[in-house]
Order: sequence, then C-alpha cells, then structure tokens
Amino acid sequence: MSEPRTKEREKELKKFIDSAKNKGQGFLKNALEWFKLNVGTKVISEELAQIPGKKGKSISHNIRRIFELRDEQGYELINHNDNVSSGKKLKVDEWILVKKEPNPKNIRSRGVNKRIMYEVFTRDDNMCQFCGRKPGDDDPFKPGHKIKLHVGHIIAHKRTYDKEVVRVERIDDMNSKAILTKEDFITMCNVCNEGAKNKDLEIMTPVAKVMKLRETDQKEIYSILKKKFS
Ligand SMILES: [Zn+2]
Repeated sequence: MSEPRTKEREKELKKFIDSAKNKGQGFLKNALEWFKLNVGTKVISEELAQIPGKKGKSISHNIRRIFELRDEQGYELINHNDNVSSGKKLKVDEWILVKKEPNPKNIRSRGVNKRIMYEVFTRDDNMCQFCGRKPGDDDPFKPGHKIKLHVGHIIAHKRTYDKEVVRVERIDDMNSKAILTKEDFITMCNVCNEGAKNKDLEIMTPVAKVMKLRETDQKEIYSILKKKFS
C-alpha cells in the first residue's frame, strides 16, 4: 500500500470504503482491516474518519474508539505518544499498526469496558450503592446538575459491625494488568465518588435499598413478602 495523502492511496481508500459499506460490520472491524492493509505504514485520522460503521455511515466523531483496538484487543497500535519508544516521528492524528497479530499481553484493564459497566449498573439497579442516588436525581452540590453514575473499583471489601464496607479507588488511578470482572466494581454516584478517597464507604443495607426503590417495585416486594409470611 502507498503512503497517505497521495492520489493512489486515496483510490485505495475509496475502494476499501465501498466494499466495507456492504459488509455491515462495525467501525472498529473496518478500521482494523484498513490498518491491516497498511500494516507498518501510517494511517491518518482523515482516513479513519471516512471509514464506515455498521449502517454504512462513517462515525467521524468517534475515531478515538480505535484506541479500543489497542487497549481491549491488544493490537500494537502506536501514535505520536510512542515516538520516544518507537523511534518514529508521528504527528498527532497519525497511527501505525506495527504487527498484524494482536498480543493479548498488551490488553490493558485500565478503565472499564462498556460491557463491564453495563453489567455493574444492571446488577446494582442503576443506583449508587452508598447513598441510593440515581441518574436524574438533582446533584445537591451543583445546582442545575443531575447525578451521574460511575463504576468504582473495589480495592478492599470487609464487614464491620454487621455492615458491609468497601474501599474503592477512582478508575483513572488504576494501573493493574489483572483481568477484572464485574465483581471488582460497584456503582457509585459522582457525589460519593468525589468523597471516596482513602475512606471506607458503607454499602447501603438491603432494607435501605428497598426504601429507595420505585413505589411499584416496593409494592411488588410487599405482596411477595405478605404471601410468604402470612
Ligand atoms: Zn452516592
């Protein structure tokens, strides 16, 4: 393949985009194919921005997702941040796929992928497990703002005086290469997240959680328990 920003390369890209449009596969798969066709040579943002996603449309607003190829799939994808270690002189918005095959050792658990986030939020009923706030509740410290949910990384878990207590750390401080699952995380709101530094947090008791539920859910629990104990 030729270098980017040449007529020849433009033709190659156009051909690639036309065939990708009919495949119906996601942006990441298409982007990866384009990288593999150009392994060892530069790929630029301008090209990635034209590569189609599932519906055949490009997702130019979302090219940062290509970092998922590196962080979640282990492909050796370098950019200007790697110039020192790679000895290349890449500009911002230039990438090189170094090898066609991914290396699972490169997979970073830094950050939480969307699947884990979804699993954690679903398990926790989309509710902060420390104060019971939900998205849509007003943020008490920022007038006009709504609560946002985060996943906190559990670094210690214990029970004291019959209470379940955890210590969590912010995800962006995390640097572990261990494989993490949803059991390593807990749903917390921005208010609790901001107050969490090096402090044990009390998880709400089951009763407290029930008291925070919607009335329809509470009524359902009530009728189930009534049946059970009458
Ligand atoms: Zn909270």
